[in-house]
Amino acid sequence: MIAKLLIANRGEIACRVIRTARRLGIRTVAVYSDADARARHVAMADEAFRIGPAPARDSYLKVDAILEAAKKSGADAIHPGYGFLSENAEFAEACARAGVIFVGPPPSAIRAMGGKSAAKALMEKAGVPVVPGYHGKDQGIALFAEAARKIGYPVLVKASAGGGGKGMRIVETEMALHDAIESARREAKSSFGDDTLLIEKYLTQPRHIEIQVFADSHDNAVYLFERDCSVQRRHQKVIEEAPAPGMTVARRKAMGEAAVKAARAVGYRGAGTVEFIAAPDGAFYFMEMNTRLQVEHPVTEMITGQDLVEWQLIVANGGALPKKQNELRIDGHAFEVRLYAEDPIRDFLPATGTLHHLLFPEEGSHVRVDTGIRAGDAVSIHYDPMIAKLIVWDSDREAARRRLVAALAETEIAGLVTNRAFLAALAAHPAFAAGEVDTGFIARHRAALIPAAVRVPDEGLALAVLGFMLQRQAEAAAAGQRASDPYSPWHQASGWRLNDDAHHVLRLRDPVAGEIAVTAHFRPDGFLIDLPGGSLTVRGTLRHGVIEADLGEGKARAAFLRRGDELTVIADGRNHTLGLVNPLAEAGDSAADAGRLTAPMPGKIVALRVINGASVKRGAPLLVLEAMKMEHTIAAPADGIVERLRYKVGDQVDEGAELVVFKPAKI
Ligand code: ADP
Repeated sequence: MIAKLLIANRGEIACRVIRTARRLGIRTVAVYSDADARARHVAMADEAFRIGPAPARDSYLKVDAILEAAKKSGADAIHPGYGFLSENAEFAEACARAGVIFVGPPPSAIRAMGGKSAAKALMEKAGVPVVPGYHGKDQGIALFAEAARKIGYPVLVKASAGGGGKGMRIVETEMALHDAIESARREAKSSFGDDTLLIEKYLTQPRHIEIQVFADSHDNAVYLFERDCSVQRRHQKVIEEAPAPGMTVARRKAMGEAAVKAARAVGYRGAGTVEFIAAPDGAFYFMEMNTRLQVEHPVTEMITGQDLVEWQLIVANGGALPKKQNELRIDGHAFEVRLYAEDPIRDFLPATGTLHHLLFPEEGSHVRVDTGIRAGDAVSIHYDPMIAKLIVWDSDREAARRRLVAALAETEIAGLVTNRAFLAALAAHPAFAAGEVDTGFIARHRAALIPAAVRVPDEGLALAVLGFMLQRQAEAAAAGQRASDPYSPWHQASGWRLNDDAHHVLRLRDPVAGEIAVTAHFRPDGFLIDLPGGSLTVRGTLRHGVIEADLGEGKARAAFLRRGDELTVIADGRNHTLGLVNPLAEAGDSAADAGRLTAPMPGKIVALRVINGASVKRGAPLLVLEAMKMEHTIAAPADGIVERLRYKVGDQVDEGAELVVFKPAKI
């Protein structure tokens, strides 16, 4: 029996494996790189071992370091997760040599499915349908041309060792074949060190349908039905679902049995996925087999009620599969979306940064969240920028899709750019709702899914201003409580002025529209805010970062976050981020004419950024003043010389106090 399991992975999949192991009473061992010392998977495991610096090749791909951690911890099995070493036959062999169970298939099965050409030849022999084409050893151009003519254009040239779509070329006519082969060969050589190519029929508007299979060492093999992963961008899966829309009972059985045949042909054991490409006419063809647990396995768990990691551990222990084929059923429908730190507007450029705010929908029988990240964690350059997988289930596809829309709307992330809004647009799209999915879906609906950036709407501005003002009032009230004179007008942020309409002008920087000045007039129970589209009466409360507000006639609820000079409002499932154009930094402008920089309000000096005599450029930070619990940077109003800093860190200053004797360069 496996008593202690080491997880040779990180992020959500490490956490997910730990969850099942814990339920089964198996002790868990995490491994981590320097970048992950405080990661969630490390905190969740019973023990954790450092295996090296941040880059994966120095840590999560280091066989010796992982086996050393297994030895030190006394782990008797290793779960490789997906990615990293999960499909590495040498690693599986090294585990066996070290006397540790590798939770995965035999090395021979990993190797047999490792190359596309050899796998296709093997599948053909086993009677599994493969895409019509040529995948022989002889790589002469004449042979390719003849094969292409036989199968008919368009054709697809692929690298046998390929992955991630590299070395793939769509060829429309015989004229273009020669050049396509030459360039695919070069790319395959440089990417994989192997320029073996294959050629196959290019299917237009196909679907990616894969079958989850499981086999044990007692000659049992079953399929746990299909997943449709057709919604892709650049050959990467974005939304997965189970079962596949429009799947018939007969076709499911045919595909399931073909997949089991494929697994049996290579002496498979454990969890595997046979990927098929399906034509609109219902024909399906073997593409490749992934010899590990897939990212999207939860949708299968949701519709079958089985825990696939538990199955993996049972099989690794030498046990028999928990269910026979006729005991497996599909119940309802499930979707999974992959939440990524990436920018859809900038061609899905991966993003890095800290997740200052992270809120997922509540988990239950309809919603599952698989993540390895907590609020305050960072998405670094070193690993895949996936933040979480949101998985939803309901009794039918439409009910599940509505759950997905709701779950995405309830997800709040601030601190870095994500694909959340893009996923929400996908989930809400009528063609997606109608189940009209194929691998061209995203390209076809791009304009609707990735709208151009627009300025923050008036409601977003109003909520940002309200949040800012409420926070200021709360801070002022708190400061008043602490101060010796709690009745001092300085501790009121109610806009009290002597002879004036009490108001506050906030200058905000919109990422699209640029600077916008918004005036908030104080009213007894709220504000009248002048916005680009007109004035709006606004009132509300701010508690624990949540605004509850009346906006004119309507009501709104929003998350509000302030980080330095950045305000983020998350409302109606949309993020609005605005820069705060620091009013105090610029308040120096007029004072500078007299060569004086004065405190615009009473406060405390919390940092000095220059020394006496420093020569500075316009805009250079000189010192930081804390007032009303907020930090304000006092910047150089012009190029010039800091003749003298009048205060030191910790000093209290009154409004109007001269902070710096400043000599502008040109006077
Ligand atoms: P890789 O290993 O590089 O990811 P795959 O062979 O797994 O390549 O194919 C990735 C994706 O490319 C598939 O999910 C599908 O969208 C598309 N694709 C592959 N083969 C074909 C084909 N014959 N016709 C049309 N599209 C294909």
